[in-house]
Amino acid sequence: MSSVGIVVVSHSPVLAQAAVDLALEMVPADPPRVVVAAGTADGGTGTDAVRVADAITEVAENGTDVLVFMDLGSAVLSAEMALEFADPDINVRLTSAPFVEGLLAAVVSAGAGATLDEVEREASGALAAKRSHLETPDAPDDRPQAPLADAAQHLDVAIVNTDGLHARPAAQIVAAIGARDAWVTAQNLTQAGTTVALTGPTAVLTMGGRRGEVIRLSADGPDAAAVLADLEALFADGFGEPTGPAAVSVPVVSQPIGVSPGRAAGPVLRMPEPVEEPAATPRLESAERAAAAAAIPVAAEAVAAELRRRAGLAAADARGILEAGAQLATDPGIIADAQRAVADSGVPAARAVWDAFGEPIEGLRARGGRIAERGSDLADARARIVAALEDRPFPGLPGSDKPYVLLARDLAPADTALLDPAKCLALVTEEGGPTSHTAILARALGIPAVVAARGAWAEPGGTALLVDGTTGELTWNPSEALLEDLANTVQTAAFNGRGATADGHPIALLANVGSEGDARAGAAANAEGVGLFRTEFCFLDRDDEPSVEEQIAAYRGVLAAFPGKKVVVRTLDAGSDKPLGFVATEPEGNPALGVRGYRTAAVHADLLDRQLQAIARAAKLESAHVAVMAPMIATVDEAAAFAAQARGHGLTDVGVMIETPAAALLSAHLLAVVDFVSLGTNDLTQYTMAADRLLGSLAPLNDPWQPAVLQLVARAAEAGRAAGKPVGVCGEAAADPLLAAVLTGLGATSLSMAPRALPAVAELLAGVSEAQCRQAALAATAAVNAAEARASAREALH
Ligand code: PEP
Ligand code: MG
Repeated sequence: MSSVGIVVVSHSPVLAQAAVDLALEMVPADPPRVVVAAGTADGGTGTDAVRVADAITEVAENGTDVLVFMDLGSAVLSAEMALEFADPDINVRLTSAPFVEGLLAAVVSAGAGATLDEVEREASGALAAKRSHLETPDAPDDRPQAPLADAAQHLDVAIVNTDGLHARPAAQIVAAIGARDAWVTAQNLTQAGTTVALTGPTAVLTMGGRRGEVIRLSADGPDAAAVLADLEALFADGFGEPTGPAAVSVPVVSQPIGVSPGRAAGPVLRMPEPVEEPAATPRLESAERAAAAAAIPVAAEAVAAELRRRAGLAAADARGILEAGAQLATDPGIIADAQRAVADSGVPAARAVWDAFGEPIEGLRARGGRIAERGSDLADARARIVAALEDRPFPGLPGSDKPYVLLARDLAPADTALLDPAKCLALVTEEGGPTSHTAILARALGIPAVVAARGAWAEPGGTALLVDGTTGELTWNPSEALLEDLANTVQTAAFNGRGATADGHPIALLANVGSEGDARAGAAANAEGVGLFRTEFCFLDRDDEPSVEEQIAAYRGVLAAFPGKKVVVRTLDAGSDKPLGFVATEPEGNPALGVRGYRTAAVHADLLDRQLQAIARAAKLESAHVAVMAPMIATVDEAAAFAAQARGHGLTDVGVMIETPAAALLSAHLLAVVDFVSLGTNDLTQYTMAADRLLGSLAPLNDPWQPAVLQLVARAAEAGRAAGKPVGVCGEAAADPLLAAVLTGLGATSLSMAPRALPAVAELLAGVSEAQCRQAALAATAAVNAAEARASAREALH
C-alpha cells in the first residue's frame, strides 16, 4: 500500500476531478489515496480552507503522509490556512509542483511505494520531459544520479510500442522497479543520452524514448536480475500497447506546409467564397424570360472586359492566360445554350449558365494534363458570369491599397498571375502541395507561403496572421511582442559566393533558372553557377518550334550572366504538367507516366538534335562552361544514346537527371556512360512515393524527407563517389537548408536552387561540420518516416 496520499486543491471541482482521473488512469492496479478539495461550500468557484483541512484528515486516516497540490492564487492561501486546522501529527507537505504533470508523477510514484520526499521530488521535476521536448532551458536536475556498483547487471532493450515511452509505460516501469529491491538506471543509447536513475516516471519520460530506440538498463541490489527480467518482459510486450509502426503521413490529414521561406505578418484578406451551383428554381414566368436571357451575354461580356483589363496589367506569362479566359467566357455556343434554357424552360439565368458550361468543363477536365487546366479556366469564367448575374463581387483577388496576407482556399491561374509582391506580404492556401502552381509561383516572387492549411480559411475571429513560410507555422492575431520580434529579425546575410561547411568542405551552391532574368537574379545572388536551366520555360507560350537562332539567343542570355562559370542546360522537359505547343503527343490517361522529358526524343528526334545544336553554338559564343543534361531518364540505353548525340555536337560535359527510381537504382551504370548526374528530387519523390506532385492532399507523401527518397539519393551519391564524378541536386529539396545539410552528408557535390534560397542554405551549411552532415544523413536515411528523418537530422546538426 502507498505510504503517501494526495490532496488536490482547486478553484474548480471539474478541473480537479479531470486531473485526478487522468492521473489515476496511469496506475490502475494499486493507486494511492487521492481526495479533492475544490470549490466553495455553496458550490461556487473558489477554495475553502476547512474543506482542505477535512481532505487532509481523510487522506491521513490510514496513517499515510500527505502531499497537497494547489492550482493557483487563493488555493495556496487556503491550503496554508488548512495546515493550521489540521492535526499537527499528520506529516503533510504543500508542493509547488505543476498541477497536472506533477499530480500525474506523484500518483505514479506514490503508487509505486515511494516516500513523501521521493514523491515530492518526482512531482517537482515533472516538467522536465516537456521542457526538454520543447527545448526550453531547464532548471538543473537535482534528482539523484545512480551510484551503481561495478557489479551492476546490464540489459539492452528495444522500444517496440508505437507511442514509445509516454506516461503509461513510464508508470509501469516505475511500478516494476518499486516492487523489487533494486536500484535501476537507464540510458537511451540511440539518442546517446545521459544515464538517469529511474526513481520515478519523470526520469523515464526525460529519456524521450521513441519506437525503435534502444535503452540500456542497469540494475544493482539484491533483486537486480529479477527486476531486469521484469523490465525485459514489459518492453518486449510493448507495455501492452500496439506495436505497429507509428501512424505516418495519412495523406488526407495534412499539416500546413511552408513552401516559400520567410516570415511576414499583416491583416488578412480572404478570397471571396467560391461561387456555388445556383438553384434551378423557381422557374421564370414567360414574361420574365426574354430579359433574363438577354442578361447572359451582357454578363459574359462584362467578365471578358474585366479579364482583358487585367491582362493589360499582367506580366507577359500571365497575359495569355487571362486573354484566353476572356475568350472562353464569351464562347458563343455555350452562351446560346444558356439563353435557350432560359427562353424555352424558364431556367433561372445563373443556373442556365452553370449548366451550359458544365459539360465542356467536365469534358476538358476528364482529359487530364494541360487540357484539364483549360477546364479550370472555363470553370473560373463560369463562376465570374454567375457572380455578375447575381450582382456579387467577382471571385478572385480582392482589391487592397494596403499590404495584406492573402488567405485562399486555392488560387486560380488568373489570380496567381496578378499577385503583387509589394502588396501581398504572404500567402496561405488550404489546398496545394509543395510543388504546386501556387508554391512555385510564391517562391519565384519571394512571397512567404504556406499551403495545405486546412481550416485556415474559416478561422473565426482571425483578422491578422503571422506566416512562417519556412516552418509552416501560422499565428493568428499575433501579439505586439511577436510583431516586434519579427521586425527585429536579423535578415540572413547574403551568400558570399563560396558554399562550404564550417570545416571547409566545399559544396557548390548554384541557381535554378528558366530565363535570362532568372539568371541575372542568380548572378546577383552570387550563385556559383547554374545547376539547372529549364529550357522549356523559355518556350512555354510557343505553338511553333523556336528556330535554332531563336534558341541560341535565349540560351546566350542565360550563359552571359555566368561568364567563366558552370551552367547546366537541361534539354526540353516537355510533357505532363509542362506541355509545349510544338511537342505534340497523343492524349494520355496518365501524363506523368507518359511521353515526357527525354522520351519525347523518340517521337521528335530532330527537335532534340536542333536543340543540342543551338546549345553547342551558344556555348561557343559565351565563356560560360556549358554542361548539358537530359530529363526523365529511366534506362542506361537512354543515357548512352543521349550522351552520344550530345557529344556528336561537340558538347563535352554530358549528364542525365536522376528523377525515376529506376535511374537512382542504376546510378553506377549511368555514371559509366555520362560525366555527371543531377538529382531531380521533385520528380524522384513523386515517382518513388507514387504521389502526384501537384496534389495538395498528397503533400505529406510528396516530401523529399521520405526515407525511401533519401535512400535512393544515397545510392546515387555513393555511385558518384565510387566513379569520382559529380552528383548534384537540383530539385526543391536543395532549397531546404536542413535537407541541404543531409544531401551534403550523403555526398552531393552541388546544390542548385531558386536564387532566393541561397542565403539560408549557405548560412546553415557554414554553421555545421561535414561530419555533422554525415551524421544527419545517416540518421535521416535510417528513419522510419519523414517526420522522424527531419527530427533526427535536426538533432544531429545541433
Ligand atoms: C525535379 O524533378 O526535381 C526537377 C528539378 O525538374 P522539374 O521540377 O523541372 O520537373
Ligand atoms: Mg523533373
